[in-house]
Amino acid sequence: MSTFNVKNPATGKVLAEIQESTKEEVEAIIEDVHQGFSEWKSRDAHDRAAIIKKWHDLIEENKNELAEIITKESGKPLKEALGEVNYANSYIAWYAEEAKRIYGKTIPASTPNKNIIIKKQPVGVVAGITPWNFPAAMLTRKTAPALAAGCTFVAKPAVETPLTTIKLVELAHEAGVPKNVLQYVNGSGSKIGPIFTENKLVKKITFTGSTPVGKNLIRESAKTVKHVSMELGGHAPIIVCEDADIEAAATQTLISKFRNAGQTCICANRVFVHESVVTAFADKLKEKVSQLKIGNGLEEETDIGPLINKKGFDKVKAQCENAAKLGAEILVGGHGKVDEDKETYFFEPTVLLNATQEMDIMNDETFGPLLPIQSFANIDEAISLANSLPFGLAAYYFTNDYRTGLYLSDHLDFGVIGWNDGAPSAAYAPFGGLKESGIGKEGGAEGMEPYLDTKYLSIGGLKV
Ligand code: NAP
Ligand code: MG
Repeated sequence: MSTFNVKNPATGKVLAEIQESTKEEVEAIIEDVHQGFSEWKSRDAHDRAAIIKKWHDLIEENKNELAEIITKESGKPLKEALGEVNYANSYIAWYAEEAKRIYGKTIPASTPNKNIIIKKQPVGVVAGITPWNFPAAMLTRKTAPALAAGCTFVAKPAVETPLTTIKLVELAHEAGVPKNVLQYVNGSGSKIGPIFTENKLVKKITFTGSTPVGKNLIRESAKTVKHVSMELGGHAPIIVCEDADIEAAATQTLISKFRNAGQTCICANRVFVHESVVTAFADKLKEKVSQLKIGNGLEEETDIGPLINKKGFDKVKAQCENAAKLGAEILVGGHGKVDEDKETYFFEPTVLLNATQEMDIMNDETFGPLLPIQSFANIDEAISLANSLPFGLAAYYFTNDYRTGLYLSDHLDFGVIGWNDGAPSAAYAPFGGLKESGIGKEGGAEGMEPYLDTKYLSIGGLKV
């Protein structure tokens, strides 16, 4: 029986030893939730809704404990962890309601003795694979609509952060979600992913994580033609126009970039600022960034926790060095704070000026507290820079001119757009990427669709 350790990335302390699920165990759990499917989908929607609502209420009662688990295993500051629990729970509240609103329709037929009825049905067993950066929200964005639709679910959390999933699933069971409706398995994605994709009982794979892993899951899911939903990597641009409110733009950029130490898929990864305001913007941002405090997320004053692991740290450090070598000016930050014995990896919140397209940071997702600024001369140049990468998850811009704002919204190829808004995510809105950032939406009425099959019934020979 093999096990792995869950560690606090801020202290290096081992939090738990987790048993890796064997292939036989994963298959047995899939079989179990397959058994659970026929009963769960047949329950009336109001019953499912009430159970999901109860799950929400139990999470609310246990939110401080959950937040502490998130901070300990992911490293994010406690105030952010509590924010994540509330955000995660807002999806559960939303889909508890939506469970009652899965509507079919009727279509007028071309022959008078026919009746066409459209029905929506749950797709069946769903396997979900989630990342470590939002261990609660990435799980509930998937499980809440899946359970509401009548699907059953097996979750595979990231090896860094299984404890949040374990606690959330425990609370779901306590709320009345049957054990054969929602379960989790533990272990590395490269071992468990293929068990999911090869299994014919799994009808859908829903994944949040990196683009290469997502592409692999799409390819493997093709073998049994499974439904797929993919929330993949991003490389969000922020465009600061010449008429922008610079104070607001700097504040929102700070929120977008430095939340979770820059380890979020929609965080600003490159800032394009009109040449006439670039100095004013950079000065404001520098002033704000200089005040951020690095530390253990459990300490009240901490704004920036550790990077999740050495691999994450090495990428940030390499991007910073590459940018500096190619001529970027380090406005603030630029250093790591590493304890090799404890294996803890912090990086100072950093702003780079004079970024250019040939720098790695302008092309590869950073996933760390490092932000490059590049200036532009006109709005079409900014749009073309923003759209130049294969990513299309989130984009932001700051302007108070409605014509510029609408023009940008038409021409930016991104699924989530914040206009004078650095924090656009909400349970009631359809979150998801375009281009290589994903397939399918999570949140809103649209977030239920990926868990539903459409079936139509053509009734002939009616009396007319
Ligand atoms: P990752 O390496 O792709 O890991 C995400 C999950 O996939 C983990 O549970 C991981 O398991 C699993 N996995 C790894 N290799 C696999 C394989 N071959 N088959 C199946 N599953 C596999 O991503 P990460 O680096 O941890 O997370 C950061 C990435 O997630 C970033 O690119 C970020 O942009 C993206 N993200 C996207 C969104 C969104 O909504 N679009 C939200 C958050 C994050 P292990 O535990 O073994 O690593
Ligand atoms: Mg990983």
